[in-house]
Amino acid sequence: MTERGMRTSCGALRAGDEGRTVELDGWVNRRRDHGGLIFVDLRDWEGVTQIVFAPEQDHFATAERLRHEDVIRVCGTVRRRPDGTQNPRLGTGDVEVGVARLEVLNRSEVPPFQVNADDAVDENLRLEYRYLDLRRPRMQRNLRMRHRIVKAIRDFFDAREFVEIETPMLIKSTPEGARDYLVPSRMHPGSFYALPQSPQMLKQILMVAGFGRYLQIARCMRDEDLRADRQPEFTQVDVEMSFVTQDEVLETMESCMRAVWKAALDVDLPPFPRLTYDEALRRYGSDKPDLRFGLELADVGHAFAASEFAVFASTLARGGEILALRYPGGAALSRRDFDALTELAKTHGAQGMVWIARAASGTKSSAAKFLSADEIAAVCDGAAAAEGDAVLLFAGDRAAVRATAGRMRLEVGDRCNLRDPAKFAFGWVLDFPYLDLDEATGKPAPAHHAFSAPVDDHWELIERDPMAVRAQHYDMVLNGYELGSGSIRIHRPDQQRKIFEMLGLDDAEIEARFGFFIRALGYGAPPHGGMALGIDRIAMLACGEDSIREVIAFPKNQVARDVMMDAPSGVPDELLHDLNLRTTLPGPHGR
Ligand code: ASP
Repeated sequence: MTERGMRTSCGALRAGDEGRTVELDGWVNRRRDHGGLIFVDLRDWEGVTQIVFAPEQDHFATAERLRHEDVIRVCGTVRRRPDGTQNPRLGTGDVEVGVARLEVLNRSEVPPFQVNADDAVDENLRLEYRYLDLRRPRMQRNLRMRHRIVKAIRDFFDAREFVEIETPMLIKSTPEGARDYLVPSRMHPGSFYALPQSPQMLKQILMVAGFGRYLQIARCMRDEDLRADRQPEFTQVDVEMSFVTQDEVLETMESCMRAVWKAALDVDLPPFPRLTYDEALRRYGSDKPDLRFGLELADVGHAFAASEFAVFASTLARGGEILALRYPGGAALSRRDFDALTELAKTHGAQGMVWIARAASGTKSSAAKFLSADEIAAVCDGAAAAEGDAVLLFAGDRAAVRATAGRMRLEVGDRCNLRDPAKFAFGWVLDFPYLDLDEATGKPAPAHHAFSAPVDDHWELIERDPMAVRAQHYDMVLNGYELGSGSIRIHRPDQQRKIFEMLGLDDAEIEARFGFFIRALGYGAPPHGGMALGIDRIAMLACGEDSIREVIAFPKNQVARDVMMDAPSGVPDELLHDLNLRTTLPGPHGR
């Protein structure tokens, strides 16, 4: 104890501390003047303590001028709050500190929004004053949760003898399917570094280098369109292991998540179900299914084998699918509600939607004229719809109709409150096709990346039918999000070359972009495999948030700007000159 009293956090004091002299530092969370006394809730990162100023004291006038977010130091005596004034919602709610000395350490401007509550505030304003936003309870909670998650990840891998190795930020492009961020080189005019889209090739080279168990909490940068679950830069737990089977990688990553959920949320996770890619699409219409609820899609084409309904008949004739989705309790919907649902389905790519409502008063349908009683019965049976339920029907080409029905499944899940953020349904999706059609270019591109190994006996398909090649590629999913991907890699240089050739690269391109990597594989690369999981998404879901910006201290806004620092921004012409760059855009610095 010093003469000033023992320095104490604002969350620590309890009834048992009565009579102690303490010193508290913190921010003015709230000030209330009444009964001639001034009450201040003093806040630091550990909690809030009520401190009380009495009028006879010298510092009373100063206390009267205290404003929200001023930073003060007080010294005083802990006493019990009078009966009836305790606050059971606060850990410190039984006590208060009668202030003997007050020191104002710093004043605060009037904050642009309330810091002491989590009221809704425009996100750009929050991001511009992020330091105030981060002081608020929700962000304090979220970033602490994120810390616990990352710590649990490191502890887990440390216990399994993984080595954390940092890889550089200034590298040659590692393709993960996005656009690179480029950094111009001053020393090598006209040349550029790329910021890593991931440490993929470097971690594989670490396998060649004999570090059989690698881990990195790695920053990745991808220049792509932003979404609630995407940022230009994000953090992954990046893992690679030598001499492993796919099952061993899955076991490792699954156990890691189990350890994280136990440590951070005290939740015991059940074993993660495994689905093949085909099964995920067939049952849930998505390769990142939300497994918190059932409502699986039912293929009811068989019910319409002899249908006179032209839409269904022509779909089946083309080899398309008719999918049924149960809507629990949906029979209570009005025609209007169904019309609105149909419009929504159209925004998700549906050509149209047929509904059947199994009300107690009888069955109704938007296509009553075209559907026989037998067909309706077979559909309800196929979709396991009971009285009181509705069934939504979608028809179309296989990939498209599955995607639409999958999105509508999520919609129905939302409407029926089946997507509880406090519930966690992890799962694995396995056996991905090697190639899919790139949305932007329409050309075949790796579903994961070009370093994944095809399934063993699919090598011979590469020339004959590349779209049929399957990869030893797996995704971990949680609540309808893809947490991350991984694969067993190619470890032989001739095979790696063959994949690049399948992707249409000629020898010169392969040499220029990947020559160093293929050479490394040629010096005794061990068989290896690994995975990366997005820490931002993990933290977002663990915190019950629906945007990763809520778990990142300084994220970019929706249009990739840092509105606090004002980045990106122009740079002085001299800097551009040093880099041998000139902008072709009008205005100062091309802005
Ligand atoms: N590099 C991959 C990614 O960022 C993960 C992996 O294959 O390990 O998605």
